[in-house]
Amino acid sequence: MPADKDRRCFSHIRAFMAGTREGMIAISPDRTVRMLNEPAAGMLEVTRNECVGSPAEALGVPELTQSVETALAEKEIVKGSFERRNRCYSFTITPYEDADATGAVLSLRDDTEILAARKRSEAILLSTSDGILVFDADDRVTFVNPAAETLLGKGAEELVGLVTDIWTIFGLATDPEGRVQETGTQAREVRMEEPEHRIVDVRVDPVFDDRQTYLGSVSTIRDVTVEREAMQMKNEFVSTVSHELRTPLTSIKGYIDLILDGEAGEVNEIQHEFLSIVKENSDRLVELINDMLDISRIESGRIVLKVQPLDVAERIAGAVNTFKAVTDQQGRAIHVEIPGDLPKAAGDPDRVGQVLINFISNAIKYSPQGGDVFVRAELADDRVRVGISDEGIGISPEDQARLFTKFYRVDSSLTREIGGTGLGLSICKSIIELLGGEVGVESEPGSGSTFWFTLPLASDRHVRTPSLEGPLGSPGGRILVVDDNSDVANLIATYLSRRGYEVVKAFNASEARELALELEPRVITLDVMVDEGAGFGLLEELKADPRTRDIPVVVLSIICDQGRSERSGCTDYLEKPIDKNRLISVIDGLVGSIASPVVLVTDDDRSIVELLTRTLKQRGYAVMAAYDGKEAMAAVARKRPDAILLDIRMPVMDGYEVLEALKTNPETRDIPVVIMSAYQIDRDRASVLDLATQLIGKPFDVEEFVAHIEEVISESEPAPASVGEGES
Ligand code: ADP
Repeated sequence: MPADKDRRCFSHIRAFMAGTREGMIAISPDRTVRMLNEPAAGMLEVTRNECVGSPAEALGVPELTQSVETALAEKEIVKGSFERRNRCYSFTITPYEDADATGAVLSLRDDTEILAARKRSEAILLSTSDGILVFDADDRVTFVNPAAETLLGKGAEELVGLVTDIWTIFGLATDPEGRVQETGTQAREVRMEEPEHRIVDVRVDPVFDDRQTYLGSVSTIRDVTVEREAMQMKNEFVSTVSHELRTPLTSIKGYIDLILDGEAGEVNEIQHEFLSIVKENSDRLVELINDMLDISRIESGRIVLKVQPLDVAERIAGAVNTFKAVTDQQGRAIHVEIPGDLPKAAGDPDRVGQVLINFISNAIKYSPQGGDVFVRAELADDRVRVGISDEGIGISPEDQARLFTKFYRVDSSLTREIGGTGLGLSICKSIIELLGGEVGVESEPGSGSTFWFTLPLASDRHVRTPSLEGPLGSPGGRILVVDDNSDVANLIATYLSRRGYEVVKAFNASEARELALELEPRVITLDVMVDEGAGFGLLEELKADPRTRDIPVVVLSIICDQGRSERSGCTDYLEKPIDKNRLISVIDGLVGSIASPVVLVTDDDRSIVELLTRTLKQRGYAVMAAYDGKEAMAAVARKRPDAILLDIRMPVMDGYEVLEALKTNPETRDIPVVIMSAYQIDRDRASVLDLATQLIGKPFDVEEFVAHIEEVISESEPAPASVGEGES
């Protein structure tokens, strides 16, 4: 190689070696140091003069000398590390061919900081109480900390190297959306019984580098057993306390109502005034307890929502009606604006009513200077949107943001004076969100507020089950009231005997069982908490015994266990404190359906349904009212009617379909069906109508019509189940 070219080449290498922060050393084939840059001299604490031209031993690190030998002899890259004065160095020795001999280039790096950082993070991972598992990009477990070992009951040696995901380790299904790389963070609460009972929050986060390359994932497992159990204990505590509070309140409220209704003799004006104050305050107490129970039910996930198609206008009318006395007295009005063609929403009628009442009550409460309230419903983005506007005190933007949280109340002298708990809005928000809707508020301080909520539209999946209404006129028969609190039992007995029933009371489960067998009551009302919860067992026993199986049982309960009561076989469920009117209408309906024939009226024209219902009830029939075919089918499933009045043209499921469904099912094919129709018969489907018992054209004379029905029912008796067996 010509000398000047050689020099030029060296100057490149020199520049290169001077410019890097790594230590670089060139070793000649004769094992002497040929070049050494500044960083290398610094790391090894030698000078260039000492080393250049001297054997590699002059570098002063035996590990290096040895590795140079190996690299030159084997002609292979050798890597290694060594420590010097508390610092850690790593090195790479790369052999190269020089003419016919082998030399080597040695690069040195100071890893002290990197290693310290790694130790620190490992120490953190090792000491944290959350379980941590690290997966590489190929879903291979690469790290498991001791907390994860304990939580999973598996050692790191068992887990590291497995190709899996965290859900599989827990024995669960993998996220249906795919790998965490595609879905982003995944999280679930997991209940585990092995190696011991634990509730854990598990989350998986994908890890990407700066260029969005997927590096793997980190799973964290947090033990939340104590928190969840504490929460459950709190909820149970709230339930128990509310139970204890509700029992005396049921008596207080019930007896005050009786006195105010004049049931205990005449009440003079002052007594009336004082008693009204007592009543108002006991009502507030009941409301407060109901709110607390709602919160605990929502938090423990025990709230039962009965989603069905919901006529929002009807709900609004009902809610507005509750405030009529108040608004009339205050000289203000509630205006309702709803388009006639508003479609049905999907929701739980009672719960949506509760939300409406809460919003309207607030609108009245927080506009103390008066002003009207507006309730508007509309179709917006495929949802039903309801807004309640007032002309009241309004709410600042900061408060708006926090209004829907538990116990939050705007802090002002005015709101303090008005009084409240700050629970209502948070309950409303939870209910609406559970129903799949949203809530919100628009407001300006001083110029009123609009609280709104949305609900999804009803679909074919949601079907309302019509209720059963008893005939008008005085009912009668024996009712067995089961309650271990004699004050409450006496109160229910008073309500029912004033209604014309003969009441028998039982104060414990065994007494109740005996009386049910001996007296064959028409209906049983049962507090499931009788004998510390023996009511559920009693209910199941009654339903299992053929002698008592058909007696309808209405559960009157404080503990809000509607789901369990229904599974045990109750016919209806009412919450305490008892609403007198509701109790009576439920009992009347049930008794009516035993003592009198039941007619199902089905028509999408509400005025016809109402007219027929009223007339039939006057004539001593129990009635179920359905507005479309699906509702009619739900009603039949609930209670086998003695006759069905059926319109032909109806939405959702028309009369032809209902008739066909009824007549092809052996359980229902003997129920007489009277078709009522104002329309031309569909020729192609006319043959279906042959299945009907009678055909009556609209319009018809109601009296005549009812006479027809009486005929149909009396003809189909007795023993309707056996008539027509084997035919059609
Ligand atoms: P409460 O009325 O029992 O305090 P809510 O949860 O119903 O509880 O309401 C929370 C707070 O929101 C109220 O204390 C009040 O400050 C504010 N608020 C609710 N509705 C209105 C309204 N229509 N106008 C002004 N402020 C309201």
